[in-house]
Amino acid sequence: MNPTRCLLCCLTVATLGAQSSPEALRAETLRTEAFRTHGAYEDLAWLCDRIGHRLSGSPQLDQAIVWAQARLKAAGLVNVHAEPVMVPHWVRGQESAELLLPAPHRLNILGLGGSVGTPVGGLTADVQVVGSFDELDRLGEAVKGKIVLFDVPFKGYGHTVVYRHDGAAKAAKYGAVAALVRSVGPVSLDTPHTGAMDYDPAFPKIPTAAVTIEASTQMRRMQQRGERIRMQLEMGAKTLPDAPSANVVAEIRGIERPEEIVILSGHLDSWDVGQGAQDDGAGTVIAMEAARLIQSLGLRPRRTIRVVLWTNEENGLRGGKAYRDAHRAEFKNIVAAVETDSGSERIKAFSLDLRKATPEAKAAALISLQRLATAIEPFGPIDLRLGGSGADVSPMVGEGVPGIGVGHAATHYFDIHHTHADTLDKIAKDDLAHNAAALAAFAFALAQSDVRFQ
Ligand SMILES: [Zn+2]
Repeated sequence: MNPTRCLLCCLTVATLGAQSSPEALRAETLRTEAFRTHGAYEDLAWLCDRIGHRLSGSPQLDQAIVWAQARLKAAGLVNVHAEPVMVPHWVRGQESAELLLPAPHRLNILGLGGSVGTPVGGLTADVQVVGSFDELDRLGEAVKGKIVLFDVPFKGYGHTVVYRHDGAAKAAKYGAVAALVRSVGPVSLDTPHTGAMDYDPAFPKIPTAAVTIEASTQMRRMQQRGERIRMQLEMGAKTLPDAPSANVVAEIRGIERPEEIVILSGHLDSWDVGQGAQDDGAGTVIAMEAARLIQSLGLRPRRTIRVVLWTNEENGLRGGKAYRDAHRAEFKNIVAAVETDSGSERIKAFSLDLRKATPEAKAAALISLQRLATAIEPFGPIDLRLGGSGADVSPMVGEGVPGIGVGHAATHYFDIHHTHADTLDKIAKDDLAHNAAALAAFAFALAQSDVRFQ
């Protein structure tokens, strides 16, 4: 322990007074160290500025995988390695959209991940705006040969994202030549939002892209005035053969029960726009930093804390699926798989996801979870509850491994989600330090405890 750190510990102890619990004191020490070093922010700045966005199959994701291992090794973690996974390799190519009628101008678009491209030179067709799948069904074959635009206002992600995901398949069923979706987000500065989509094998694959809220509402107004809307759309998107990638794994070995494991995780991949700062650079660096804080303060957990940085969350979930397949023998020893993938604002909840437990077992597990409350008291109100966990851990959680989702305040999460604007300047440095320390305190308390959720 270095003298500076020792002094900080003493100051912290003196400030808190005699009645604070050992858990709360430890949390304060972690918090002090996180704000002294701001290691999570330093890591995120490097990831954003020097590596950039990290779509599956890209050289940037490969670089990030190498970089993360080096950082975890430098922090003194052990068993640092990459577990190979083959991932989908979709590339965007050149893309453009231009309104020809009723008044010519260019539109900002982003092709959706997995989309096919247009023919070389693009396609030109009339646009039909619809507000729902029901409206599309009522029009039926009337959209044949047209570009269908789903202009559906954001009413929460789950409600609206189905239009991004399934819009192309639904429009192709009636013979549309392309599908556009109003970006899935509450606000816009002419920022289109990309994201994953899927085709239905029963219908042709048609090109599909997101337009901005500005463009979507404008085309709706044009249609309401009875104007003919004609568009030229060109997309060079294509899917290449699967590419090699990897999950990054590193550990702090437990000193009493090393076989029992608390997983801390975030996903290293991102979309191919912006910097993936919020989604999920922030989750990645706080998982790394939480482990680094524990290690650097010389805290020795009874159980093993394992950091896992997932690959391919955004367009395939291959990292989470491969981990499930490779680690089944360990499932009974995974105390919980914690995932943070809901942004960088302050942590408000840890929610326990038990898919195979009876209601009685869930109630008992919730009481166990709430025993950890004192360990995170210094971080303000954090709800310990039953709920969802995360996409990457979901393959394991589906087979009975307890998942824990880190719930962040998400007041602005969807403003920049999957956009060119998901960049470091949107991330508050103090929030990252706060979150890394809160995650460290929670994970360490769980690794020290006898708590089992299953
Ligand atoms: Zn994410």
